[in-house]
Amino acid sequence: MRVLIVEDDPTLADGLIRSLTQSGHAIDSASNGEQANLMLQESIYDLAILDLGLPKMDGLEVLRRLRGRGGRTPVLILTARDAVESRVQGLDAGADDYLTKPFDLVELEARIRALIRRGQLGSNAALSCGKLSFDTAGHRALCDGEAIELSARELGVLEVLMLRQGKVVNKEQIMEALCNWDADIGDNAIEVYIHRLRKKLEFSGARIRTIRGLGYLLEHE
Ligand code: CA
Repeated sequence: MRVLIVEDDPTLADGLIRSLTQSGHAIDSASNGEQANLMLQESIYDLAILDLGLPKMDGLEVLRRLRGRGGRTPVLILTARDAVESRVQGLDAGADDYLTKPFDLVELEARIRALIRRGQLGSNAALSCGKLSFDTAGHRALCDGEAIELSARELGVLEVLMLRQGKVVNKEQIMEALCNWDADIGDNAIEVYIHRLRKKLEFSGARIRTIRGLGYLLEHE
């Protein structure tokens, strides 16, 4: 999933970025409200984690503007433990869930999985292609119910292909889903991930076809 983290506390932001990157998500981050507002206009995210107390534009305003222009990105707000009122305002403004600080990263992951289960993240929590299935909540790929060992990046590529099954996915779309804005993933790297995925998926019956000049297509026997 592509997640935007908006947090002005650098220590907390770093912890969030590290933890969610390890879980295989593609992360962008913003440290003030204006920047977050721009990023939410320019890119599509599967989830935004939004601190309410932010410099330049507060989180509540960022959220109101997002919902005001019809943006449906699920938003999980971060609030201070005693700030009951801002929590209520946040939910009223269209937040999908909240966490009070300080929180455990394990709890954050659990909330994200809950949002996925409630159908607020992604359109299909479980995707399948023949014997191959992808559990977006648990972030793993399975063949006949057995987990397939894949790296975080390989999982990211497979998730994009599974989400757009039956359609050709081009390299830009894969890069978009995979990249942090500050990390460079080249054409070659994507070819390497596809090559590895093909090998690892061989026994599942799922095939990644190269459509020359256009991209890749996931299908099954
Ligand atoms: Ca803050």
